[in-house]
Amino acid sequence: MAQRIGLYGGSFDPIHFGHLISARSLAEQLSLNRVVLIPAMLPPHKQKSELTDARHRLEMARLAVQGDPLFEVSDAELHRAGPSYTFDTVTQFRQQLGPQVELFWFIGADSLPELPSWYRVAELVKVVRIVTAARPGWTRPDPAQLNVAIGSASARQLLEDCLETPRIDISATDIRARVRSGLSIRYLVPEGVASYIATQRLYQIP
Ligand code: ATP
Repeated sequence: MAQRIGLYGGSFDPIHFGHLISARSLAEQLSLNRVVLIPAMLPPHKQKSELTDARHRLEMARLAVQGDPLFEVSDAELHRAGPSYTFDTVTQFRQQLGPQVELFWFIGADSLPELPSWYRVAELVKVVRIVTAARPGWTRPDPAQLNVAIGSASARQLLEDCLETPRIDISATDIRARVRSGLSIRYLVPEGVASYIATQRLYQIP
């Protein structure tokens, strides 16, 4: 049977249980063989100065899923210059894995309204199934906008691929703010990630 692989890109600054729980839920609902976490070197909508060094974000992702056979971590986006476009990443995985593998790209529902502005989005939806994890406070985007950006058939598929996942209201922004304020981040991130943040003294200076 064809391998089914989920690709999950993000800033992961830091990776937290919201990411991991929603990714596992999507993997179970879609019967995926594995999920690849892909820290972005430079997400198109973020400034480099806003982000923690990629090597820290990569290491935290590795620590978060150590010993879990569902997950693996890829540094694919860290070797490319410029913005980390999903289209380029998916093309790279497609070339590496071959045409038989079924690929899924995970996003959180808060990223869905921005999708029409993504780089080469009309082509992207033809090469990968974009699967959306419903997240606290999410609203279904206006299908009219999606129809214009990717065509009505792809827009219908995209909305069908919005899957309910446990709604875990954790955000990386909140975690960074808690560290800066000296508050505990226990139960928000895996223990290995919390220790790494402490020993590397991440997020302490605004
Ligand atoms: P930040 O607060 O810095 O913007 P974030 O917590 O939203 O970060 P990102 O690394 O930017 O995390 O997110 C990567 C992907 O994970 C995005 O598609 C985002 O929607 C999704 N995501 C983030 N937090 C959650 C959560 N609690 N549940 C489900 N999906 C999430």
